[in-house]
Amino acid sequence: QIVFIAKESDPGEPRVAGSVESVKKLKSLGFDVVVEAGAGLHSRVPDAEYEKAGARIGSAADAKEADVVLKVRRPSPQEIAGYRSGAIVIAIMDPYGNEEAIAAMAGAGLTAFAMELMPRITRAQSMDVLSSQANLAGYQAVVDAAHEYDRALPMMMTAAGTVPAAKVFVMGAGVAGLQAIATARRMGAMVSATDVRPAAKEQVASLGAKFIAVEDEEFKAAETAGGYAKEMSKDYQVKQAALVAEHIAKQDIVVTTALIPGRPAPRLVTREMLDAMKPGSVVVDLAVERGGNVEGAEAGKVVELGGVKVVGHLNVPGRIAASASLLYAKNLVTFLETMVSKETKALALNMEDELVKATALTHGGAVVHPAFGGANG
Ligand code: NAD
Repeated sequence: QIVFIAKESDPGEPRVAGSVESVKKLKSLGFDVVVEAGAGLHSRVPDAEYEKAGARIGSAADAKEADVVLKVRRPSPQEIAGYRSGAIVIAIMDPYGNEEAIAAMAGAGLTAFAMELMPRITRAQSMDVLSSQANLAGYQAVVDAAHEYDRALPMMMTAAGTVPAAKVFVMGAGVAGLQAIATARRMGAMVSATDVRPAAKEQVASLGAKFIAVEDEEFKAAETAGGYAKEMSKDYQVKQAALVAEHIAKQDIVVTTALIPGRPAPRLVTREMLDAMKPGSVVVDLAVERGGNVEGAEAGKVVELGGVKVVGHLNVPGRIAASASLLYAKNLVTFLETMVSKETKALALNMEDELVKATALTHGGAVVHPAFGGANG
């Protein structure tokens, strides 16, 4: 059985779906591994390293022989044409709003898995790409903010005078936000944070940051059973905006990470709020790809609005590609391992498995995921 680790065709994607460790693991599971030449270039894994781990270096044409194709992004139509019918393809599929592309994978006879649909249960924690990548994005957001900020983050008492500590405000204290808080704290900043989920309060405090939020009745009920945020009422949003406006004017750096599943990102920072910030302040919008938390943020750009730098980098985990690939490759191989029979080492896909059910988009020539028109409830 052959696993093919593809080189990403999207020039905006520096990550790779395989690491030295994951190749070794795949070999131990009984797979032959083919890595497309140059696949690890931007994640700092040279072909020779994959070879040393036991992989063969091949070309795109080798995908045709593969039983399993591992990728970072959903395959393009050209790539799909190069896979054999019946092959398993595992990637971050970005399925919402891309029903045509899903149908194309079904049409090609692929069994396609979307890693981002992995349920957030204990058994699947080591396969949770949203967490592995958001964690690094939260770190990188603070590094990017520090890079754009023309002052030091920690307080520095020197013979030549004192540099004050930067004030950092993190909006949205999920996986990315909590890592942003921890990173800013490590860099010596004074950190505060907000979220609409009451569970976040304690987590923020445990990282040594101050929690800022409108803690009314709605806030106390704002968490869904899945642990996600709900879209808040207009009334709450107005109260939240007033509190944030006052707080933000005193901040040097703001990192926004707020998302609501299946909805556009909530607008948390207005132009007015940006105007109230000191010149030279930095705002990093990690939600920019989902519509943005910050008014005026532009995807893929750093823009200056009223003297405030608004950072809207795309694919933030890709900005720390070597680490992101390492964790992503581990997520993939852990998931694939669940599909391999321990006795025979053969691929033995169980369509009834909870993880398979949650992530399988297409199988046997059809779309199977219920969220995308499939019948596989
Ligand atoms: P996310 O990426 O969906 O959203 C980021 C954060 O934005 C969330 O904390 C959310 O509450 C917050 N937010 C939404 N609207 C907001 C608003 N108007 N103002 C301020 N903040 C707002 O979230 P996530 O990082 O994926 O984490 C969601 C939850 O899932 C967390 O509780 C996390 O701890 C949990 N989680 C559990 C597991 C697991 O059990 N395996 C794994 C990962 C995450």
